[in-house]
Amino acid sequence: MSTALTATPDRQAEARSRTPGVYLLTLRLPRAATWCHGSTQTRLRPGWYVYTGSAMGGLEGRLARHLRTSTVRHWHLDYLLSGARVVDIQALAGRDPDAECRLAAAVRTWPGAEAVPGFGAGDCRCDSHLCRFARRPGTSVRASAVLAQLPGLFGALAARYADYTAEARAPFPTLVTCALSLRTRDPVTEAVAARVLARWQSPAELAGAALDDLADCIHAVGMFRQKARHLIALSRQIEERHGGRVPDRLDQLLALPGVGSKTANLVLSFAFHQDAICVDTHVHRLCNRWGLVRTAAPADTERELQAVLPRQYWARLNPFLVQHGQQLCLPGRPRCGRCPLAAAGCGYADLRRERHLLRTVCAAPPHPCLGADLPAEARPT
Ligand code: SF4
Repeated sequence: MSTALTATPDRQAEARSRTPGVYLLTLRLPRAATWCHGSTQTRLRPGWYVYTGSAMGGLEGRLARHLRTSTVRHWHLDYLLSGARVVDIQALAGRDPDAECRLAAAVRTWPGAEAVPGFGAGDCRCDSHLCRFARRPGTSVRASAVLAQLPGLFGALAARYADYTAEARAPFPTLVTCALSLRTRDPVTEAVAARVLARWQSPAELAGAALDDLADCIHAVGMFRQKARHLIALSRQIEERHGGRVPDRLDQLLALPGVGSKTANLVLSFAFHQDAICVDTHVHRLCNRWGLVRTAAPADTERELQAVLPRQYWARLNPFLVQHGQQLCLPGRPRCGRCPLAAAGCGYADLRRERHLLRTVCAAPPHPCLGADLPAEARPT
């Protein structure tokens, strides 16, 4: 007699609600732990770890078990879990029995991965299903699928938005505008930058500005006094070290007072037409929604994009995603129903399916970037 015939309706419903698939756990191990296997003991150093597993009997139950506090040491992973905290879960539904080993092999190629030999690989031929990282990895399991859709995604963006990198922009006004823009709305930044540049037209002139005059002129932008100090100091440095010309090298731009990675990369891409990735809040959010990266902070997104994104997309990423993030892919409430990218390869629906699966798993951590901004989809059909 088949199981289906003997199972109660409750059990049948439960079986239907289980999702087979593979998963990655990202773990933070603050102190060294010991992994005992056979007669061998291996020291696991503090750091970040990514473990690859599969659960053909249902991801929900397996992940819930990993997140429960327990003193039982049954699997290799239990030794790591005794001292580590799960900070992220990436899950892919499917029944492919080889998917777990393929995924483990892919993780071993991530930047900075150090495989822990034999861990989690007792019943396969893999070197390891656990990798250690010195810093939190930001790779998404969906990145390769999104990368394959980039021509379509950028085609849809190019059809709708202006490509500012194609315009000729003078370096000094670009630098001043970007330096003023932090924590300030675009219309305010543009009006204030126009005022500054009408009065002080070159680094030499701005270097000689009186602090109070400049602070008065830019008082509408956030942190205006600090920005005034930085603008004068960076203009002096451009005069003294670069002959009055804004440098066109990342290291030299980053050495200017008040200039961070976002400003430096924007100047390189907009004014010098170099391949540079400028990651602001829109780029950070949208790249996570697409599934191109899986990152907690813009600095991680920049590093991850430099590793995965083909160079031909670097400069245009910022202008396109800023416009899209302001018009359709809004913070908190993306307008997917009106968005041409939904059919062009955006992976946001996949992330929402993942969230649907994880919503049943008690204590599952939120997405590192999207958090509550990632509502679960109704159960997919
Ligand atoms: S489909 Fe939705 S999440 Fe994707 S880019 Fe468009 S608005 Fe953003």
